[in-house]
Amino acid sequence: MPEPKTIPTTTTTDVEELKLDPLDIRHEPFDPEDEYRPEPEPEPLPPVWMDGSLRIGIHTSISGSYLNALESARKLGCNALQIFSASPRMWAGGPARIPDADAAAFRARREELGLGPLVIHANYLINLAAVQSMLRTRSIQAFQDELVRSIALGADFLVVHPGARGEAKMETAIATIIDSVKQAVRRVPLGNLRILIENTAGMGSAVGSRLEEIAAVIRGLSSLGAAACLDTAHLFAAGYDLSSASGLEATISQIEQTVGLENVYVWHVNDSKIALGGRVDRHEHIGHGKIKADAFARILRHPKLGASLATGLPGRVFLLETPIEEPGDDRKNVAKLWELSGEEGPAVEKSYSMLTSALKKKLTAHRKETAKAVRDAARKSSKKKKKG
Ligand SMILES: [Zn+2]
Ligand SMILES: [Zn+2]
Repeated sequence: MPEPKTIPTTTTTDVEELKLDPLDIRHEPFDPEDEYRPEPEPEPLPPVWMDGSLRIGIHTSISGSYLNALESARKLGCNALQIFSASPRMWAGGPARIPDADAAAFRARREELGLGPLVIHANYLINLAAVQSMLRTRSIQAFQDELVRSIALGADFLVVHPGARGEAKMETAIATIIDSVKQAVRRVPLGNLRILIENTAGMGSAVGSRLEEIAAVIRGLSSLGAAACLDTAHLFAAGYDLSSASGLEATISQIEQTVGLENVYVWHVNDSKIALGGRVDRHEHIGHGKIKADAFARILRHPKLGASLATGLPGRVFLLETPIEEPGDDRKNVAKLWELSGEEGPAVEKSYSMLTSALKKKLTAHRKETAKAVRDAARKSSKKKKKG
């Protein structure tokens, strides 16, 4: 810091000469310290998507470029979106870090389109509850990479499944998850990014099918501001009956007593192929599954569940993860949510879909090939058994 210069004090003569009003505030004795006081930081304005308006989106593909996800969301009539920041089913699914120029272009375009919040779903292979040390280390590293990429892309939320506990006790698994997240966050300043723990359907030894388990994890991570993402299909398969009006009220009161509604920033809205309490995770198109359209209308219009400023949580978002089997399935599900909400969504690009007929053909061929390879392998191994 430079030495403050001596400032001559103003005399009455100066004032007269300069025809200054002696009562003028500007004429108060000058404090040299003022020279070195930094401009106060302007209060950051909350992002537009926190204006209390309904936020609806769908999981969009980053295939080709991160920017493609933004354009898909826009064309499908979304005002929010979820993406993977790398391939979700491979450990090394592309670069661990995103090139600065790509990340900057993505942030700028998202700002232009006013899409928000931006939710990133973490890789499915990550198991923060893993007992086996190799898998646990790998999971922590991969989750740290997720954090770094999320921050680079300017994401608001990073959603992760709690993990599978194997033979471990539930309390042990919960402690492991909390510790894994804390290790991953070490040396990664989160900034505006919030980690969300998602509830599960309860397949196998998955942690998080009970709301109490999600509550315990986010309580253990309260110093990081961690919160929750609730999936309607997972809740239903785990035994929470969202399909009826009374069931929804009962579920809401259970959420209030455990996780807390103020901690539910993201809803994954998926219908369920699986019956109530079936404990299997199979998403279905809105209105075509066991939860049914009426129930989604109740969820989207519920004063406590939306983003409305009075009773909801500003910035809260409803995101689809429904299957895209036919071209247009994505657009139809987004339109269905807006329709059920009773509000008008953004304009849609006519007949746009992330799945084109050409892409569908390619995927079908690939699926057939994979199925054939699996059958051949099974036949070979059964022949071997018969011989042996
Ligand atoms: Zn989900
Ligand atoms: Zn699911």
